[in-house]
Amino acid sequence: MAIEIFDAVIYLPIIVIGQIYFEHYFASFKNQRSANFILTTVIVVTYLIQEFCLLQISLLNIRDAAFIMVLPVTMLFRNSRNKIWWWLLAITPIPANIYMAHIKLSSFSDWGVWIGQSIVFFLVCLALTSRKYLSLRVRYTMAIVGLGIVELLYLTLENQFRPASIVAATADLGVFLILEGQRYAVEMKKDQKLKLLQNESERDDLTGLLNYRALSQEIKNLTKRKEIHNIIIGGLDIDHFKSINDRYGHFVGNEVLNRFSTTLRDRIHSEFPNHGYAYRFGGEEFSIVVTNHSISEVHAVLQSVERYFVQHPIITTEGDQISLSFSAGLTNHLNGEVLDNTLKRADRMLYSVKNNGRGWIITDHHHKLEEAE
Ligand code: GH3
Ligand code: MG
Ligand code: MG
Repeated sequence: MAIEIFDAVIYLPIIVIGQIYFEHYFASFKNQRSANFILTTVIVVTYLIQEFCLLQISLLNIRDAAFIMVLPVTMLFRNSRNKIWWWLLAITPIPANIYMAHIKLSSFSDWGVWIGQSIVFFLVCLALTSRKYLSLRVRYTMAIVGLGIVELLYLTLENQFRPASIVAATADLGVFLILEGQRYAVEMKKDQKLKLLQNESERDDLTGLLNYRALSQEIKNLTKRKEIHNIIIGGLDIDHFKSINDRYGHFVGNEVLNRFSTTLRDRIHSEFPNHGYAYRFGGEEFSIVVTNHSISEVHAVLQSVERYFVQHPIITTEGDQISLSFSAGLTNHLNGEVLDNTLKRADRMLYSVKNNGRGWIITDHHHKLEEAE
């Protein structure tokens, strides 16, 4: 029995891992023309071949068709958007059952049980792949344990309890849980590192604000998001900043940039939680993006920031008092407009403030927007 179990335990993982690598290899040709069709054909053919081999091996070793659905379940948890694995999960019992009936190890009357199993797995996978609040690792474990439980119930129904089948099948599933568990752990670490790097690459070193790269990225994504019905973009520029540098030096200039950034960001975040972000566009220029709020709300908040700096001059670590003002242009994103153009309009408006005294905020009004549309 020990040899039977050993055989059964090593073949299934070898075949499944082989298939996974096979798919990975072909997936790298995805960008080539008609590669999708070829990839799908290759997956289906190799899947059917490996299912046949697996069936033979498990029949040989434990005289039962054990866990032929591990592969589609594993592949679905790796990429649930790949529809082919949903199809393969659903049809797997059919060729297996035909073959089993052909070699007289089961009868066609077992169809009901096989199809019932297949429907149960399909529904379990459907439910588990969409429950995003549980980690992928936990959901995969639940699916594999589910497989084991359903198989045990099946064996109970059929009165086919054989220690070899149960031990081999349990050990097989254990091997998968360990292998995939390890993989998820490695991928999670990679993901975390990647997120950290991305986070760092989107932050401005001096002020800690989001940088121009983050702004460009946000601009690419914003108009695609359906829940967003209004976007306000603002361009801000500190007035006469050069003279602060000239008078107090660049270190103090940096400190002023820092204080300004922190105040602007905190105010925008607290007034528009999850809807307002401040970016350092470059130098002493900033951008703000606020979604699903009116231009007058954003205007009021910027005015309060302007007032704050009038009433609270920045006191540097060296004790210098520096009063600060900024100029700003605020504009509404127009329906269907490329967001870059909205940004450019905010910039043009900002420069019109620069040419008209500085220290105030210009907005475009609704009737103007309708004309522009
Ligand atoms: P305006 O009111 O027309 O905007 O005048 P300004 O002096 O603010 O504008 P200008 O474009 O003439 O000068 C911007 C200055 O900002 C020049 C540049 O040296 C300074 N600056 C840009 N980035 C930094 C920085 O990171 N640190 C410091 N200390 N200064 C910076
Ligand atoms: Mg300036
Ligand atoms: Mg400037």
